[in-house]
Amino acid sequence: MESYLVRALAKKHGIRGIACLTTGVVEEIAQRLDASPAARAALGYGLTAAALLGALLKVQQHIAVKFEGDGPLGKMIVESDSYGHLRGYVAQPSIALAPPFTANDVAAIVGQHGTLTVVKDLKVKELYRSVVPLQTGRPDTDLTYYLMMSEQVPSVVEIGAPIDAQGMLRAAGGLLLQLLPDGDLVALQQMAERLDDLPPVGEMLADGESPQDVLDTLFSGQDYEILETHPLRFRCTCSRERSRQALKLLDSSEIVKLLSKGEAVIDCHFCRERYVFDRHDLLTILDEIRTES
Ligand SMILES: [Zn+2]
Repeated sequence: MESYLVRALAKKHGIRGIACLTTGVVEEIAQRLDASPAARAALGYGLTAAALLGALLKVQQHIAVKFEGDGPLGKMIVESDSYGHLRGYVAQPSIALAPPFTANDVAAIVGQHGTLTVVKDLKVKELYRSVVPLQTGRPDTDLTYYLMMSEQVPSVVEIGAPIDAQGMLRAAGGLLLQLLPDGDLVALQQMAERLDDLPPVGEMLADGESPQDVLDTLFSGQDYEILETHPLRFRCTCSRERSRQALKLLDSSEIVKLLSKGEAVIDCHFCRERYVFDRHDLLTILDEIRTES
């Protein structure tokens, strides 16, 4: 199933709306991580959160979001960029809890106590970094809190990734409504109330409604336009060359140690790709380290 994101704007009220369907890309990443249904539910929330935040970036910018709660999941890192590329990692992909899972279960899987860290590469000198305490463990409400407290932008975020009793992901996706600098706060509050009266967004998507349908329902009665629709895809930034560069940062004595083992193996946490450097590769790297030092 294609994963995609829709950006909309209600000019008169100064409200931006972003909605996305992430089922396919969540499944793909969960499979790569060999994630259990519980970890899959958390990834559904986390990756959708990253996709929504990624839609606020400008060209070439990148965002990483880390949820670090006291639940059984441990740490979850999700990343995206302005092009809709996503990747994710969870510390405990095999946590065994019995499905079904809804939003409250995800809050327990992540844990209510801990931190939410957002790191943005805005292609300026310094990285932007902000840390807020987790409020509920639900990635969407925690994201709403982050956007208000750290970025001072009134926002409404709702994400859904319901998992049925058989452990299948029924759908994943979400919604972000945000007030623009000159926007109408009352109109945003009315939309938030309308959202409260609707079924959970995960249920709407599981029932076959599209992200546009969800935006249509929320913006009903307002003039709004769809600005853009773009695909969301898995992509990992790891490569053999990057792993090689990482090895080159080691001390030559460390390379000698690896040589005595015969090879160096580097596994990417995000996509489980494995890069193996044999004796010959290591000797070349050792040579380079010695020449350059
Ligand atoms: Zn990778």
